[in-house]
Amino acid sequence: MSNTRFSKVMVVNRGEIALRVIRGIQAVGLTAVAVYSDADTNSLHRKQANEAYRLAGDSATDTYLNMDAILTIAKQAGVHAIHPGYGFLSENATFAQRCADAGLIFIGPSPKVITAMGDKIAAKQAMTQADVPVVPGITLDDAFDSKAVAKDAKAIGYPVLVKAAAGGGGKGMRLVYQPEELEAAIDSSRREAAKAFGDGRVFVEKYIERPRHVEIQVMGDHHGNVVHLFERECSIQRRHQKIVEESPSPALSNELREVMGNAAVAAAKAIGYTNAGTVEFILAPDGSFYFLEVNTRLQVEHPVTELVTGVDLVRWQLLIAQGEALPLTQQQLHQRGHAVECRIYAEDPAHGFLPATGTLHYVQWPQGPNIRVDAGVETGSEVGIHYDPMLTKLIVWGESRAVALQTMEQALQETILLGVTTNVGFLLNLIQHPEFQLGNIHTHFLTEHPIETATHPSNALWSISALALTEPSALGKVRQQSSSNRGDSATPLKGLHHLATDLAAHWRLHA
Ligand code: ADP
Ligand code: ADP
Ligand code: MG
Repeated sequence: MSNTRFSKVMVVNRGEIALRVIRGIQAVGLTAVAVYSDADTNSLHRKQANEAYRLAGDSATDTYLNMDAILTIAKQAGVHAIHPGYGFLSENATFAQRCADAGLIFIGPSPKVITAMGDKIAAKQAMTQADVPVVPGITLDDAFDSKAVAKDAKAIGYPVLVKAAAGGGGKGMRLVYQPEELEAAIDSSRREAAKAFGDGRVFVEKYIERPRHVEIQVMGDHHGNVVHLFERECSIQRRHQKIVEESPSPALSNELREVMGNAAVAAAKAIGYTNAGTVEFILAPDGSFYFLEVNTRLQVEHPVTELVTGVDLVRWQLLIAQGEALPLTQQQLHQRGHAVECRIYAEDPAHGFLPATGTLHYVQWPQGPNIRVDAGVETGSEVGIHYDPMLTKLIVWGESRAVALQTMEQALQETILLGVTTNVGFLLNLIQHPEFQLGNIHTHFLTEHPIETATHPSNALWSISALALTEPSALGKVRQQSSSNRGDSATPLKGLHHLATDLAAHWRLHA
């Protein structure tokens, strides 16, 4: 691929990742074009972009997944390249191909690589050929013989995990402890996979118990260079979905880090990988690791890698897409200090992490050295039912894990989101958990350690501000309480009277 300079890039996404990518495009002097659904008419990403075009409708299918509408706008707006963010069309090979057919550069790997890695069965086969360790498992044909499968599963050893070949976001996974439950699990996984991905193929894997999820960020250019940017530990998950990520992983020795990094680079080279990708591994308590999948896109948790390496991954994605060579060699890349990310969701941890909706009447982000807020919302934003409930990511850096966790604690304390139930209080309690602090984590951490949910200052503020609105004289009491609290530096309610005053004013304006 020769140099392909471009100047106008369209971001086909919304929320925090659209903002992140738009800023990355603008940072290198290019023009950022946004698309927005009707529900996102007042969104931050629309405001941040240099140009923005409407995608009529609210549902993801009508808007951010609507290839015809997106490609029509791209042509009208005269864009040269498309950045898909994560989710939506980011791992859709058909979309990548249609971009190419329309003369647009898709910022990601080739359609061929996306197709190969989108099929977890094919991906495992490719990795086996590249000598990358994979989880022992069985591939099922359409007309599989349940007796033979039962025999193979027994040979692998229970528990086993049924997974969807086209899987993503933890969908279609079934954990099976007893041989007699296997057939029903395969059936239900197939049904869920067919519904979610239009592809009902499933496979069975040995279930690694108390594992860690450790993934390696890779970057490849069009000149045959591939580097890794070290690991991210993403073991804190609910429903097989990550909520806290960090780098470095507390579980890796320098030797293991190098072995896993080299395995990821070998994997990427074997499939001709270009642009940003993540090779996900599962790490067993005994230190053995197995390939899980390749995510062929920029990952949600990419900022922790940016903070420890100092590399702007979106900038690299843009350079690679323009045909440039990777700016740094493997030897020039270093992991410095420690970074932690918390995903802030509109959801209720006290009720099975059920997504929450509503208006964010008041939003306050933390500030300070080594704190990064990748926000997707602001005061006044509506949180609806149409899209993923992740609102914002909080990422911090420290010279050690302990310092980073301390900063994260403070950052979460200072995060105020009023009007919509969020997991901020839950994250705060999780970060403070003694076992988490020790780095003793695995993918079942949250089932083994129930986390308190209800002590975040937002909750107190919410009741107080509601009181201040209905009964302005109560404001005096709030002020009094807050100044008597002020002597105690540990109180999370510092600055309360300012907030209560702001809120009362804000609410009076909007009531
Ligand atoms: P990550 O490793 O980046 O956390 P996830 O698998 O959790 O990856 O997915 C990242 C984003 O993509 C999430 O917002 C998730 O909802 C979305 N996503 C994952 N799989 C799919 C899918 N098959 N269809 C639509 N969105 C998906
Ligand atoms: P997805 O495409 O949904 O992200 P993955 O294969 O990456 O699917 O798995 C998601 C999560 O499920 C992993 O991070 C891990 O927690 C768990 N998982 C997947 N495969 C296994 C396995 N063989 N043993 C134990 N846990 C697994
Ligand atoms: Mg995964």
